Amino acid sequence: MELRFWGVRGSIASPGASTQGIGGNTTCVSIRHEDYLFIFDAGTGLRLLGEHLLAQKAAPWRGSIFLTHYHWDHIQGLPFFTPAFIKGNAFELYGESKDGLDVRQILNNQMLAPYFPVPLDLQQGLITFKGIESGERVEPAPGFTVQAGSLLHPNKAIGFRLESKTASVTVITDHEHPAEHLDPVVVEFSRGTDVLIHDSQYTPEEKLGPRKGWGHSSWEDAARTAKEADVGVLYISHHDPKRSDADVMEILAKARSIFPRTEVATETTVVDLASCRR
Ligand SMILES: [Zn+2]
Ligand SMILES: [Zn+2]
Repeated sequence: MELRFWGVRGSIASPGASTQGIGGNTTCVSIRHEDYLFIFDAGTGLRLLGEHLLAQKAAPWRGSIFLTHYHWDHIQGLPFFTPAFIKGNAFELYGESKDGLDVRQILNNQMLAPYFPVPLDLQQGLITFKGIESGERVEPAPGFTVQAGSLLHPNKAIGFRLESKTASVTVITDHEHPAEHLDPVVVEFSRGTDVLIHDSQYTPEEKLGPRKGWGHSSWEDAARTAKEADVGVLYISHHDPKRSDADVMEILAKARSIFPRTEVATETTVVDLASCRR
């Protein structure tokens, strides 16, 4: 199984020489098993995944798209995900209900005028919309389960853990550990996973200072969670948009001093999950 990152930013980073290593698109990661795709979040990186799939064939593609929450950086790629407009493709969408609206109604709203000229109905490749809440476990494809876990984030968010006989991956994109200690719920949710993808948007100084309550972790939280949960490999992600490639590499070195098997998620990172097996 192959894991790929398509967008790794907490909001769009300006393109240029100082950011081209990490990339500027917002959160999207895919895990591919044969022609089936597990997609976590639909940030602007989802558009790149669409191009990648279309370069191979138009249809049929099958998969499930799991949304952690509906902040812009996690949904803006969906209107630009071309495979969703192609009949014959079959993607299922999973997300939480919010304020009495289900996942379909929420996504439909971002495609109504004046926000966008093409309605969600024309995305014929999105075949079903399913609610999912923290604590629930679904089996989107035979032999693969995805469990949702609760995160601490403004307007609420959920994390996901994908399990199969051959791999496990936990995705914690938007989460603020309490100031005094790690969130035990997230540590347990991540325990023993082969790959942990963890929010590391801030430095400890930013998180405890001007960005307190903004709903994100520091690189130190990410590394300590990986160590405490005894994971295989940690990918730090959801990088702050102002961070240059050099800034992120500095953060990587610090995170490795706590958890040596730390890597940086970039827009071109490809991971063979067999190599991450614990
Ligand atoms: Zn986010
Ligand atoms: Zn968010």
